[in-house]
Amino acid sequence: MTKDISMSDLLTFKRCQYRSFNQRVRGLETRAINRKMLIGTVMHRAWAAGYRTHPDVALRTMQNELIQCWGKGFNDHDKDYPPESFSHEDRYLMEDMLDFWYQHKGMQDRYEILKVEEPIYVQIGDWTVRGTFDALVRDEGHLLVVDKKTCDSVKDETDWLPLDFQHWLYQYIGWRVFGEPVDFMLDRVRREVPPGFGHREVRLTKKGVPAANNASTAVEDYLQRIPVPAKTVAELATFESELINLLATVEWADKRGYYTRTEIRTGGQSCGGCPYKDVCVAEYYGNVLSDEVLNVMFDRRAS
Ligand code: SF4
Repeated sequence: MTKDISMSDLLTFKRCQYRSFNQRVRGLETRAINRKMLIGTVMHRAWAAGYRTHPDVALRTMQNELIQCWGKGFNDHDKDYPPESFSHEDRYLMEDMLDFWYQHKGMQDRYEILKVEEPIYVQIGDWTVRGTFDALVRDEGHLLVVDKKTCDSVKDETDWLPLDFQHWLYQYIGWRVFGEPVDFMLDRVRREVPPGFGHREVRLTKKGVPAANNASTAVEDYLQRIPVPAKTVAELATFESELINLLATVEWADKRGYYTRTEIRTGGQSCGGCPYKDVCVAEYYGNVLSDEVLNVMFDRRAS
């Protein structure tokens, strides 16, 4: 029997099996509207709208998409985001983030756009792995997968990159679907703009001059692009073994119904920010949570 899994479920499984169990197997969806996720989702909608249009009108199209979200709200993966989900501060912030990104990066991009958030499927053994790329483009003759992220800081080191499972997975899937190795680019945008840009004011001293403790105005402290050249076919074939092994681990965990926890102390993926932390801790202590209790705490993912 064919089994299927999404790329994002696979990434979650790799990070923490117990988190994946709650999300993928139990289908528990958090109810709270998380501000960071909301900003990320809306910015992705705007970018997708921009990629789907002519580069000369991309900024206006993206701005219109934002206005639509503010005005009518939207539905995304069966979740409703009504207009009241958005604070005024975050509306201004997103307008500014988009404008800043476009002025410093977006307007220079002259890609041939091939796919924007379209589903793709790859068969690996009995598994169908499905997913979407933010954008697949042709850049100076090369296929390029663009992955966008909104984040608190773009100053992270990138020593982790050679082992970053996500870009390997994207490059592998891209190769399998399109028949040629693909470049990858992580396009990171900080949830902040420099003082003096858009709605963010410059802090002034009593004398009315800019204070010394203003935040950086350097573009590289707000925007970061991390390019990863295409892997060779031999490298991708090596990764395929890693992937097959991981899918076998998913299958094994599903069969046994046992999912290990991976506690993560700091960072965006940490246990502290995990939507399943309360369930995870309660069950670690041996409590049994009934479906009735889980249904009070979470929505259920549409199957
Ligand atoms: S709280 Fe930590 S260990 Fe528990 S499911 Fe979430 S990420 Fe995994």
